[in-house]
Amino acid sequence: MNNILEVKDLKVSFHTYAGEIQAVRGVTFNLKKGEALAIVGESGCGKSVTSQAIMRLIATPPGEIKSGSSILFDGKTDIVKLTDKEMESVRGSEMGMIFQDPMTSLNPTMKVGAQITEGLIKHQGLSKQAARERAIEMLRLVGMPNPEARIDQYPHQFSGGMRQRVMIAIALACNPKLLIADEPTTALDVTIQAQIIDLMRDLQEKTGASIIIITHDLGVVADIAQRVVVMYAGKVVEQGSVDDIFYNPQHPYTWGLLRSVPRLDNDEKEPLVPIEGTPPDLFAPPKGCAFAARCPYAMEICLESDPEIENVSAGHSAACWLLHPNAPKVERPVEVGG
Ligand code: SF4
Ligand code: MG
Repeated sequence: MNNILEVKDLKVSFHTYAGEIQAVRGVTFNLKKGEALAIVGESGCGKSVTSQAIMRLIATPPGEIKSGSSILFDGKTDIVKLTDKEMESVRGSEMGMIFQDPMTSLNPTMKVGAQITEGLIKHQGLSKQAARERAIEMLRLVGMPNPEARIDQYPHQFSGGMRQRVMIAIALACNPKLLIADEPTTALDVTIQAQIIDLMRDLQEKTGASIIIITHDLGVVADIAQRVVVMYAGKVVEQGSVDDIFYNPQHPYTWGLLRSVPRLDNDEKEPLVPIEGTPPDLFAPPKGCAFAARCPYAMEICLESDPEIENVSAGHSAACWLLHPNAPKVERPVEVGG
């Protein structure tokens, strides 16, 4: 079994007084063992909800993972079908999660050491002393200076970057097979962001954990991921290797994303081009391509019918009518080639 995760036709809705929000509308992707995959897209595209579904952190109700969805973990477990109790044990011992804001995900009233050892004692059956030693080792691993003293401090005694290191230590303490990081650096300033990404890349190499990193920042993607899933309005619009996405992107939304981020090789300091308009209302998704209202290439068919996912090359696919053999050839707005 080469894949640690196989997400198939994942659909997640939220039931509200105003109606059903179709937050994730049929997402399919695989994650190989030891691979780092980035899920990118604007806020509200369903990337966080997808990761929460994988961790089974969707509150039901109001949330609902629709029937027909499957999330195969490590070749055997369908996450969707586990009981809450079974899932709690998987989360505590086989998956780790890092959130955007470490201050809200750490418990302010508990010493950080206790927060790292909690899972070790509960899910791995370590003694208090062994768990404490492991916690110190984890803090050292994530680059915390003086871990023997820091372990007895509270979250507010740490800087933002150091708190995120504590979160990473907690997530990795149980030696998870899968680490999910949702916008792990968004709340941090730029230099600290780079340090945290470096750290995550290092740790991935050291531990061999598979990583899903959720981000709107394509700079982060290039630094850490091998593969990219681009989401728009609850669907995957393109996926491929980092090279596919950066140098041979096929979907107009991916083109827009690439033009809206600063490029490291951009010596001319070209102005960034934000994608105009807003994503569709997921209470009532449009019947055709969800990107049509913002797409400069939209054709009549785009408004009528949702494009199928087409294979571009091995591991690279996109859902756009421009990939149809009869579609007009359009000039790509982004530079292609390394
Ligand atoms: Fe644009 Fe049509 Fe492609 Fe959608 S299917 S991204 S509207 S060209
Ligand atoms: Mg989010």
